[in-house]
Amino acid sequence: QRRIVIVGAGMAGVQTAVALREKGFGGTITLLGSEVHPPYDRPPLSKAVLLGKAESSAFDIDFDTLGVELRLGHGARGLRPADHEVDTALGPVPYDTAVLATGAEPLRLPGAESVPGVHLLRTLDDAERLRPVLAARSDVVVVGAGWIGAEFATAARESGCAVTVVEAGDQPLAGALPREVAAPMADWYAEAGARLRTRTRVARVEPGGVVLDDGTRLPAGAVVVGVGARPATGWLAGSGIALGAHQEVAADDRLRTSAPDVYAVGDCASFPSARYGQRLLVHHWDNALQGPRTVAANVLGPAPAVYDPVPYFWSEQFGRFVQYAGYHGGADALVWRGDPTSAAWSVCWLLDHRLVAVLAVGRPRDLAQGRRLIESAARMDPAALSDPTRPLKSA
Ligand code: FAD
Repeated sequence: QRRIVIVGAGMAGVQTAVALREKGFGGTITLLGSEVHPPYDRPPLSKAVLLGKAESSAFDIDFDTLGVELRLGHGARGLRPADHEVDTALGPVPYDTAVLATGAEPLRLPGAESVPGVHLLRTLDDAERLRPVLAARSDVVVVGAGWIGAEFATAARESGCAVTVVEAGDQPLAGALPREVAAPMADWYAEAGARLRTRTRVARVEPGGVVLDDGTRLPAGAVVVGVGARPATGWLAGSGIALGAHQEVAADDRLRTSAPDVYAVGDCASFPSARYGQRLLVHHWDNALQGPRTVAANVLGPAPAVYDPVPYFWSEQFGRFVQYAGYHGGADALVWRGDPTSAAWSVCWLLDHRLVAVLAVGRPRDLAQGRRLIESAARMDPAALSDPTRPLKSA
């Protein structure tokens, strides 16, 4: 019997197992996960789970029925492609095909790790530690106004905490969106009663507070660090698997790694996108849903399947539903649809008159239509695009 070993029991690992069975794979599937919890979904951790509106976000999958052997609580420690073995604390696990799906791990603030009251928000354990912080309505300082920082600040305000968000960049989402597009989002913080301090760095974290680079001390019952994540690939040291610029597994357009019979998918891997003419490293849920289908198709063959998606993600922050599709890195024009100080607006990015990305705030129809137009690389009429009362459609 052919043996497939999946390393990482998050969204991408679980979906790989599901996709393999859906495509009729009859061999053995072993899913190795370093966390002890039954596999769960991460987006609710900064939303319903954090607020106590949902107890868990465990995937509704019966792994026994699916014929998947779950080995939880023991992470992989190494990979030996020449021997076709994954090393774990309980010994080597042989594979015919291995799928690397170890996701990402949050960046830490140097020196803050050992300070009591400093939190990250990546795992169910993190969310469970943060729940009492919200319930106690502690004063919180959030470091980083990215996606996680904004969602945590939203939940903390909803719970009645006093919230200060400290951001080194000029505006929220400084790393993700151009300045002019993210700038209006700064008002969302104030509207929700959260304080946003941009162009500010944390000098150090102390028990009970944060000291900023200008010497200001912000008292805090808890500090939440949301300064980004990096691919969880440290365990691959010495394996010979080729890594990319961000220490992610550099997969090819079929999500194969540099080693034979080893694939990589989800937050831990990048892939070359012909659509966007560059390698993409996507840290979003939809990529961990779509990528596994390509992996399963290529593992089982015979026809090769190329992975070149239009990336998609959403965020729920300050009462708004924010959605993004595409990749705006190479765009040569930006068109606004609607007033960014209003409740609902969108931004379209074009390259050579073709839609390459869309950001929609409270305009899910723009997102749905835009995503299809990006996929079909349709030519657009910029003048028609800017009228938010007209549907998004090609010229
Ligand atoms: P992960 O979910 O990180 O899963 C990888 C798993 O592998 C982990 O359980 C890890 O413990 C395990 N692992 C790591 N190393 C090893 C090892 N050596 N051996 C065995 N197991 C290992 N995306 C959106 O699009 N919209 C959202 O609203 C959104 N909200 C989010 C909210 C939060 C709080 C977080 C943290 C993420 C959110 N995301 C969101 C991103 C999304 O959850 C991720 O893109 C997705 O989880 C990636 O799935 P993955 O399986 O690749 O990685």
